[in-house]
Formats: sequence, structure tokens, C-alpha cells
Amino acid sequence: MPEYNEQYREPTLAVYTGSVSTGCGAADSGVGPFYCTRDQTIYLDLSFYDTLISRYGAKQGDFVMSYVIAHEAGHHVQTLLGVTDQLNTLRQQISTGSISQTEFNTYSVRYELQADYLAGVVARFIKDKGYLEQGDLSEALSAAAAVGDDSIQKKYQGYADPDTFNHGTSQQRQTWFMKGYEAGDLSQWDTFEGSI
Ligand SMILES: [Zn+2]
Repeated sequence: MPEYNEQYREPTLAVYTGSVSTGCGAADSGVGPFYCTRDQTIYLDLSFYDTLISRYGAKQGDFVMSYVIAHEAGHHVQTLLGVTDQLNTLRQQISTGSISQTEFNTYSVRYELQADYLAGVVARFIKDKGYLEQGDLSEALSAAAAVGDDSIQKKYQGYADPDTFNHGTSQQRQTWFMKGYEAGDLSQWDTFEGSI
């Protein structure tokens, strides 16, 4: 397992309704939950819970939101460990033409699946503490499936276009969440190597 000497700093969680001003600019609930690297804050509009259930078809339950928050906290860990910077460097290369948008999307998917892996690590941590309730895991998996690119695209445009995927399929998101859950640490977290 790789050694990381980074000191962990907790992110801030900002719950808002409607719109919010953030270190990354103004945002409203339409953008969904996100993590802003500049102020190391997770922004969450609680109405996203209803969106997940009624629009994307996730199961109801408290662990649906635990998955969402843990995924965003995963982006915080990725930021502390320098992965987010690497993705941003790749993003800048789109404008210079060194990589195409489609190619960048493949890195984006791997980055997002890594956050799902980290969400799984959180779920395992909660389990080891004795707080995971029956049904929690299936709520998380149902949320992970609901926000898969293929399910969302099929629902809203009638077909899935893999070249435009930037978060991963439902299957991939569930798989990486479970990998993190089973490992419980960073040992398997390298989504950038090998097949996903
Ligand atoms: Zn994400």
C-alpha cells in the first residue's frame, strides 16, 4: 500500500437551499452537490435527495445522502493527495489541443470512480464502527447506480453515448464503491491504472 504523509484536514460541509456563493463562484441547486477545491468545502442542497429518488430512481434511505457526501469527501481526499491537480492539468490541455474532450472524459471517469471507491472506504469505516444499518449498503449502491452516466442519459436522451461519459456507468460506480468497501483503505484505489 502506498504511503501518504499528507496530514488530513477535514473539509467543511455547507448545506444550502436555492443558491450559494462559494470559493468557486456562485452556484444553485441545479448543479447538484459538489466539492470546491479553493475553499475545501462540500456544497449540498438537500433538495438533491428528492432529485435522486424521484428523478434518478434511487431507493429511499438515509444512506443515499451518506453516499453523496462521502463521494464529495472523496474529492477532498483526491485534492489533498494531488490527484485533482493532475486532472486539472489534463483539463487545461483540452484548450491547447494536446488532448481531445473525449480523451479527457476517460480521465474524468477514472477520477470520479476513485471518489466512489473512497465513498466505499467511508462506508466500511462506518461499518467497522458498528453504525452501518441493514439496508444502508443497498441504499448506497442504488444511489451509485442512479447517478451512472448510462442510466441518466438513457432516461433523459433515450440512449447512452459512452464518449460523453464523465462519471462512469452505473455498473462501474457500484463496482468501485464495493472495491473501496471491501478494501477499507487506499490499497486498491488507483483507478488510473488498468481496466475499469
Ligand atoms: Zn464527483
